Amino acid sequence: MQSLSVIDHPASASGSPSSPSGRRLPPWLKRELPAGNGNHFTRSLIEDLRLETVCESARCPNKPHCWSRRSATFMILGNVCTRPCGFCSVPKGKPELLEEDEPARVAEAALRLGLRHVVITSVTRDDLPDGGADHFARCIRAVREKTGATVEVLTPDFLGDPAAIDTVIDAAPEVFNHNLETVPRLYRKVRGRAEYRRSLDLLERVKRRAPHLITKAGLMLGIGETVEELFDVLADLRTIDCDVLTLGQYLAPTLKHIPVARFVPPEEFDDIAARARKLGFRTVVAGPFIRSSYHADEMVPTEEGVPHHDGTDSTA
Ligand code: SF4
Repeated sequence: MQSLSVIDHPASASGSPSSPSGRRLPPWLKRELPAGNGNHFTRSLIEDLRLETVCESARCPNKPHCWSRRSATFMILGNVCTRPCGFCSVPKGKPELLEEDEPARVAEAALRLGLRHVVITSVTRDDLPDGGADHFARCIRAVREKTGATVEVLTPDFLGDPAAIDTVIDAAPEVFNHNLETVPRLYRKVRGRAEYRRSLDLLERVKRRAPHLITKAGLMLGIGETVEELFDVLADLRTIDCDVLTLGQYLAPTLKHIPVARFVPPEEFDDIAARARKLGFRTVVAGPFIRSSYHADEMVPTEEGVPHHDGTDSTA
């Protein structure tokens, strides 16, 4: 599965006090479930339109909160990934055939949800000649034509294929997100077949070919990195002029996944964010529940350069 810093275990979504590994969750990772029927509305709509979401496939801890505000992140190109990343719960194996009408169904869902900013991600499809880039482009255009919403893509690395990356750039999403997930020392363990330099090169290419386009990257903290290693990565991101940075707590989806190395306290997220802002990112959002698609509409830098999302959960 490509770039998902959106991993959790089912326990935290329900406020249970322990993780699948038996470790007790710290108090800052427990939340009340939101009230209202927005969650039901979103679920029914997703089912009706036969869509996949990373919210469900990656067991995101924010699902009750996002879905209750009628927000979701669409996952295209099927629900089976060609990469065996150690942090991700999306099913692995033989991928499915592309569904020609998926772009239209994503656009219809965005319309019915009333989304003004639509986030589209995918499984990694190393089996396809273009990695699914054309399908991404079709989804971007379909959403824009049907809703007029801004579009954010959270893409795989397309094996570094410049033509595939350009196909997505040419469809002109407002935000091009590619998550680095972790520091280079942990890549083999965490991201399997991904390459740190290849991911940086992708983001650099986007910015070079379309400087107006907002580039965005995210990392999970608490998976074994050191703070020094993290800031080496942030420096690399600034070297390629990455605009938006998201930092969230890694949570193991199941006992079979990489265990959490450390629960990073909220104050430490705040300190890291303050230091990261000094490096020159236009937006930095950091906190235990932050995922790259969480309140993504509020992370987009405005003309004034002041996003309104501060990393807190306004829906909890
Ligand atoms: S943070 Fe993203 S992946 Fe998680 S529930 Fe919200 S929209 Fe879905």
